Amino acid sequence: MNLHEPVAASPATAPTRRVRHELRRRQLSVVSTERLSPAMLRIVLGGEELRGFTSLGADDHVKIFLPGEDGAEAERRDYTPRHYDARRNELTLDFAVHEAGPATAWALSAKVGDALTIGGPRGSLVIEESVRRFLLIGDETALPAIGRRIEEAGPGVSIVSLVAVPEPADKQNFETAADLHAHWVHRPLERADDPEALLAALRTIEIEPDCFVWIAAEASVVRALRSVLLEERAHPKTWFKASGYWVRGKADTTEKFED
Ligand SMILES: Cc1cc2nc3c(=O)[nH]c(=O)nc-3n(C[C@H](O)[C@H](O)[C@H](O)COP(=O)(O)OP(=O)(O)OC[C@H]3O[C@@H](n4cnc5c(N)ncnc54)[C@H](O)[C@@H]3O)c2cc1C
Repeated sequence: MNLHEPVAASPATAPTRRVRHELRRRQLSVVSTERLSPAMLRIVLGGEELRGFTSLGADDHVKIFLPGEDGAEAERRDYTPRHYDARRNELTLDFAVHEAGPATAWALSAKVGDALTIGGPRGSLVIEESVRRFLLIGDETALPAIGRRIEEAGPGVSIVSLVAVPEPADKQNFETAADLHAHWVHRPLERADDPEALLAALRTIEIEPDCFVWIAAEASVVRALRSVLLEERAHPKTWFKASGYWVRGKADTTEKFED
């Protein structure tokens, strides 16, 4: 197959459904903290209010509420429920480490017993089980959702992942029953808004029309990847989801791409 030729058949309908959840705020506390890699902190939360926590989609998000400075309103940021262990009643969140921002500052200083309020998830985008191929692209902020999707996939599912992280030590290994082809590219965090490393790797990847393509990263990177995939490679929009998880230089900003 010529990689640069538009794909032929285009699945007509989206293989996804939205599920709403009752919106609840929960006051939790830190059970453990772990430096997973130079660029990633893992924080496990627990507490009675976590019982019944439901997250059906690998790219769900919860809001975390952080106390504002000097009595200012609470700050809110979005994080992916990386894993919920119902038996232990524990929720894992992974925080990409960067220089500024109340969420990152909170995670960096978090100690066992510290309180954190979360809200949501408000809803889930569930991808039908009939989908057997995925291409998952992102940066370190997308790694929790990508890792979760890979770990939750069953046998017979084929996944290609393409993730940009600062250095080889930030690579993560995932246990999965799926057939996984993992590509890692490296660029310093100061160049997290430069799509070039991901674009170069993407050129080497074949994409079938019945592959669900999912992208999340810094918004300008997502825009560049989205345009290559939808315009040059003519991937069906119905089998595509892209989100700007953060915007360089703008606090508390995300970018939605309506496809
Ligand atoms: C649906 C969804 C799920 C998400 N899941 C996760 C997740 O599981 N883990 C995770 O780490 N992030 C995740 N994010 C991204 C996270 O919400 C943002 O990175 C958020 O801005 C971090 O908040 P902050 O308080 O640290 O920084 P902010 O106060 O929002 O920003 C301060 C400054 O830091 C910059 N900045 C923000 N994030 C980064 C970054 N990652 N690297 C470099 N500079 C940055 C901003 O451009 C701004 O200049 C998710 C976002 C969405 C929309």
